[in-house]
Amino acid sequence: MTDRYAVFGHPVAHSKSPLIHAAFARQTGQDVSYEAILAPLDGFADSVAAFIAAGGRGANVTVPFKETAFKLAQRVSPRAERAGAVNTLSFNSDGILGDNTDGAGLVADLTRNLHCALGGKRILLLGAGGAARGVIEPLLDQQPSALVIANRTLSRAEELAERFGRGVSTATFEAADMPFDVVINATASSLAGELPPLSPRLFGANTLAYDMMYGRDTPFLDFARSHGGTTADGLGMLVEQAAEAFYLWRGVRPDTAPVIASLRQDRLEGEHPEGHKRLSASSPRGLRT
Ligand code: NDP
Repeated sequence: MTDRYAVFGHPVAHSKSPLIHAAFARQTGQDVSYEAILAPLDGFADSVAAFIAAGGRGANVTVPFKETAFKLAQRVSPRAERAGAVNTLSFNSDGILGDNTDGAGLVADLTRNLHCALGGKRILLLGAGGAARGVIEPLLDQQPSALVIANRTLSRAEELAERFGRGVSTATFEAADMPFDVVINATASSLAGELPPLSPRLFGANTLAYDMMYGRDTPFLDFARSHGGTTADGLGMLVEQAAEAFYLWRGVRPDTAPVIASLRQDRLEGEHPEGHKRLSASSPRGLRT
């Protein structure tokens, strides 16, 4: 019988996860289905319960339910425990298990796909929400020389710095005013088409500006590029975190490269009549200068 999986979010219609997991299933020969479920803002637990009752085996969790999913899980992995956020749920006879694959996805995309080694680098992480929480520990494991968290609400960044220790420091957007090697936008500002009040001095010829948002150019990437930074969007992270979730559920690790390439190609062809021209002007991995 086909095993059912889903992504829960609000909104969720834009999610590429069903496409990605369908591609993984075809590639690995796994008999699974994967759907997008719009959970009411005050009804996440009920939606998950209904899905389990209907035979659901696992789920991904996206904005804004990652911290709610952490509370819902009966057991969580050590990395989800440290993050205080869950993006992957597994349902079995032990109950609801929670994990967080966002950080592994981001680090895989940065280091493997974009060839950006993080050891000894100065990293600025913008945002202190569910996505940011999930990536801090995996970023620290890469042994950067500095990790600074900047957030609109500074107290949330301070809470995370206290939680993770290990030399994490904080700043307001305005106070982070010196060059970094990697600047990661984990705020939801790009969803609203907005740019946080950032200093142009963050970016230079050796800066990689990474927006976790994917699917379109963002004010953050435009700003970074116009001040000399190299840019990448979060499509690779999306596919890599999905691959990690697929591995947790199915015990098989899919090959992510063809899935990333295919989604990027779809985007270029869908949004730009001259998509092929744009593709040849940029790296196949979506790294643009
Ligand atoms: P949350 O709602 O948990 O957190 C939102 C964060 O963004 C908070 O730090 C909030 O600051 C900040 N923020 C919201 N609006 C603005 C704004 N206009 N200007 C500045 N800061 C703002 O969301 P998530 O952490 O779950 O998601 C954040 C982003 O990351 C989304 O765009 C999401 O799509 C993306 N994402 C991508 C993934 C991928 O695989 N590529 C995986 C996970 C997330 P404050 O604390 O002050 O409210």
